[in-house]
Amino acid sequence: SQKISIRSVSKAYESTHALDEVSFSVSEGEFCCVVGPSGCGKTTLLRAIAGLDDPDSGSILVDGDPVTEPSLNRGMVFQEYALFPWRTVRGNIRFGLDRPACACADCEARVRELVDLVGLDGFEDAYPKELSGGMKQRVGIARALAVDPEILLMDEPFGSVDARTRDRLHAELLDIWAQTEQTVVFITHDIDEAVTLADRVVVMDADPGTVQSTISIDLERP
Ligand code: ADP
Ligand code: ADP
Repeated sequence: SQKISIRSVSKAYESTHALDEVSFSVSEGEFCCVVGPSGCGKTTLLRAIAGLDDPDSGSILVDGDPVTEPSLNRGMVFQEYALFPWRTVRGNIRFGLDRPACACADCEARVRELVDLVGLDGFEDAYPKELSGGMKQRVGIARALAVDPEILLMDEPFGSVDARTRDRLHAELLDIWAQTEQTVVFITHDIDEAVTLADRVVVMDADPGTVQSTISIDLERP
């Protein structure tokens, strides 16, 4: 069934058409990569799916309901980590919980589980500046997964890590995805990355900031 339905979505910033009548759907449990050159509107699209920005026209439906605001059932992972520098790994992950200040046994257990899931055991009390890029992004992923969102939205999450770390994070992410059965929308400018990860690739094409087309390719993962 269709989890996310994007229907003729347009958005302009001053003179720039960031999105022009973009339409496509993502099925429940699908790993969808949106690929296209820098400036083609990928971040604008993802933020609209997240409910962080409103499109000028068109609609985005999740489970048939229009997205009007951010929701706990959509977790977001950002390229530049967006971690709180003054919070530890545990504090950052805890921030993804519905009740970030709560230290009850259930919340503590959930944080432990997430630390395990992303392989950061032993680093619970470290601050972001003490971590490598790959480790920081594991924190970002754990925080996004904290409330077990139905949809995971990822904005070039591995754009700032080296190639070897990126390969490892791809494998880890696919493992996590296999366990959680989430619907994923992952944006990247790297077609190789998109093909490595996705069930479906949506290709956006920029003509100074304007989306010209979206093409969906169905892939078989080995
Ligand atoms: P991508 O993620 O594919 O690089 P973006 O969605 O970030 O593309 O940007 C699409 C276009 O909109 C670009 O031309 C960009 O310069 C422009 N843009 C993005 N955000 C803003 C903004 N807040 N104000 C003005 N222009 C913006
Ligand atoms: P990643 O692949 O997560 O970016 P690196 O390749 O930089 O990690 O490092 C590999 C391992 O080295 C990490 O999983 C971690 O155990 C350890 N490590 C990396 N950076 C640090 C650090 N700043 N402090 C302590 N241990 C670290």
